[in-house]
Amino acid sequence: MASGSNSLIWFRKGLRIHDNPALEYASNGSTYLYPVFVIDPHYMEPDPNAFSPGSTRAGLNRIRFLLESLVDLDSSLQKLGSRLLVFKGEPSEVLFRCLKEWDIKKLCFEYDTEPYYQALDIKVKNYASAAGIEVFSPVSHTLFNPADIIQKNGGRPPLTYQSFMKLAGQPSWASSPLSTNISGLSPVGNVGNCEISKVPTLQELGYEDIGQDELTPFRGGESEALKRLDGAMKDKEWVAKFEKPKGDPSAFQKPATTVLSPYLKFGCLSSRYFYQCIQDVQKNVKKHTLPPVSLLGQLLWRDFFYTVAFGTPNFDQMKGNRICKQIPWNVDDGLLAAWRDARTGFPWIDAIMVQLQKWGWMHHLARHCVACFLTRGDLFVHWEKGRDVFERLLIDSDWAINNGNWLWLSCSSFFYQYNRIYSPISFGKKYDPNGDYIRHFLPILKDMPKEYIYEPWTAPLSIQNKAKCIIGKDYPKPVISHDIASKECKRMLAEAYELNKKLNGSVSEEDLKISR
Ligand code: FAD
Repeated sequence: MASGSNSLIWFRKGLRIHDNPALEYASNGSTYLYPVFVIDPHYMEPDPNAFSPGSTRAGLNRIRFLLESLVDLDSSLQKLGSRLLVFKGEPSEVLFRCLKEWDIKKLCFEYDTEPYYQALDIKVKNYASAAGIEVFSPVSHTLFNPADIIQKNGGRPPLTYQSFMKLAGQPSWASSPLSTNISGLSPVGNVGNCEISKVPTLQELGYEDIGQDELTPFRGGESEALKRLDGAMKDKEWVAKFEKPKGDPSAFQKPATTVLSPYLKFGCLSSRYFYQCIQDVQKNVKKHTLPPVSLLGQLLWRDFFYTVAFGTPNFDQMKGNRICKQIPWNVDDGLLAAWRDARTGFPWIDAIMVQLQKWGWMHHLARHCVACFLTRGDLFVHWEKGRDVFERLLIDSDWAINNGNWLWLSCSSFFYQYNRIYSPISFGKKYDPNGDYIRHFLPILKDMPKEYIYEPWTAPLSIQNKAKCIIGKDYPKPVISHDIASKECKRMLAEAYELNKKLNGSVSEEDLKISR
């Protein structure tokens, strides 16, 4: 059995070598270092009852991305004289077994603000403290420590980007280069009776072989993240001029933004390193855009949502969430399913939902369009239902950012101009008049003339025949009339806002029933 000063690095997110303070601390001065990842079957194994292939909690694209990230991490660890020890089981049970078996003196893992990890980490810290094990859990998933910002603000999270920026200032670590080069790690000791496996394949987890083209074009892992980052940073002019929300949401061959979100989600890429690379580019150009629209500004949006999410009880629901407007959303499983399964009859909306299913990633404005359509724009379905679909299918699915943006898009928090609705017909047309994005993701419409591609139900039958796409048979008729539905949504939102104002935010279920 291994003995001496043994440490364990527990990977959850932070699946990288560069800028990984937990890994460095774990290795320093340790006789043996045990790098562990625990596969939680609940997260990874097939759920036959789920609405799309995947586990109870994650779609197949994200599971595959995670497996690829683990393979890459294992390979990088091996280059440093170590390797990844993979286990299956309930994470805390597995961890307690390992800590005991390997006589661990130092347990290191990245701090995580998500409620799931907050609860888990209390359990783990209690165990470690009772066993006399040192715990090191640094903040390295975000630019700032959300708790510091909340403390600076008198115990409450800032609720606007501007107030967040004032409190945040410059990150403390930003003035000196981050540690991005580790030359070696302490070796892995004897693993004793612990049952270790390699990173499993999808098939080994119980998934059927799925054709390559069915899954996302984005490959997981730190190596891929750094390549992608390097590619983006090389185009200095592009970085300097980056300005959101300018940028084409329909560009799919070469997306208009970095597509680094999946890598940030799993921590294959350090947001701090990303920040430093952008700063390096900005220092060497004459002029560049500024937050909130610049590329640096996007990373600050990420930290903004992390901070609000961390400081807001019940952030992921309407009930009991003090920053969320109480709105009498409809319960309509039929409309929800039509939206989720890309059957709304609005090609722009349906194409985006197909991109979500196939790629697990869409441009920010595309996300805006479908989130607005489902909630306050047209269908008046609860934002929590849309959030759930995104949470499952996005590869970059992130608890704080996803909930924050659904609150925003549904005009439940942060943004309140409910009269500004994205048209499911004209918005996409501005960027892509020929409808190439729709033709790609909805091939049934590929021969529809461009005059009708955004509103195929208006095409004469002869044109539909020629395009081999009969509306109502080959492709659905619109589930609602946008003009009528959007007016009705605005009316209901106005009423709900009035009620929220009158009752000063404390609207009850009963109050909501009255206005429905
Ligand atoms: P870039 O434009 O290249 O930005 C760089 C990074 O900045 C992103 O990778 C991301 O980490 C961060 N960022 C950019 N925009 C935002 C934003 N609005 N809020 C917070 N951080 C941002 N993003 C997620 O990472 N996970 C989610 O689960 C998620 N859910 C969303 C749900 C809805 C309804 C909407 C409207 C947006 C959501 N976003 C989410 C935010 C945003 O759409 C994505 O971060 C972005 O499109 C990712 O692409 P990118 O990496 O090319 O972004």
